[in-house]
Amino acid sequence: MFEVTETLQLEGVGYRWPGRASFELRVPNLTLARSETVLLLGESGSGKSTLLSLICGTIIAGSGRVCVAGTDIAALSAGQRDRFRAEQIGLIFQQFNLLPFASVQDNILLPLRFAPERRNRLDDPKQETARLCHDLGLPVGVMSAKAGALSVGQQQRVAAARALIGMPPLIIADEPTSSLDAATQATFLKLLFAQSRAHGTTLLMVSHDARLSSQFDRVIHMTDIAQTTRGTA
Ligand code: ADP
Ligand code: MG
Repeated sequence: MFEVTETLQLEGVGYRWPGRASFELRVPNLTLARSETVLLLGESGSGKSTLLSLICGTIIAGSGRVCVAGTDIAALSAGQRDRFRAEQIGLIFQQFNLLPFASVQDNILLPLRFAPERRNRLDDPKQETARLCHDLGLPVGVMSAKAGALSVGQQQRVAAARALIGMPPLIIADEPTSSLDAATQATFLKLLFAQSRAHGTTLLMVSHDARLSSQFDRVIHMTDIAQTTRGTA
């Protein structure tokens, strides 16, 4: 069996939001290799989050191809795509999207419910949850706490653990550090890189903060990879 060396490949991608004729995103070519850590910079409204949604398959390109771990996601049905996303992609959102009334442990275990292959990579998911919390610098006692009761910095680490559990080949993070101070931000990134390198995971992080650049293998700007058409409508 051949090995897929590109975790992500976009070719000739074009997308318009329905009813928004004024905005069009075009990405002629973008490739991310296995274990690469990539920072994607771009000003607000340049289409960064739209691009991430295309990669996650929550929206489908009007033209071109988006391949994740060798699979063209447009070739999957909506149900297959949800399952594929759960199996292949760890997601960290700007607002973390934790379930506030569920425990930290349940929040971290959540993706495995929809991803049996990811689940089967682990001998003991609860033990893995504890290990991730430990590696991410979360206190031991935090596992049974309600996620909503934690500090912002702690919630962000829980969101990172939830993305990392079961070692998905691709981690996507949309401005995950924007609500953190510089020191917390640096610690968080270091931990994320260590986790992602240990498992050959590709990391694609979006930010508008160019100061993070030196910490990544590669920095790409929206203006270099995409042509964005923006009108006034
Ligand atoms: P960024 O993440 O770089 O700030 P976005 O991808 O969020 O940029 O937005 C790019 C453009 O797409 C903006 O004009 C925005 O209004 C539009 N857009 C984003 N999300 C939606 C949506 N769900 N529905 C319609 N238009 C959207
Ligand atoms: Mg955005």
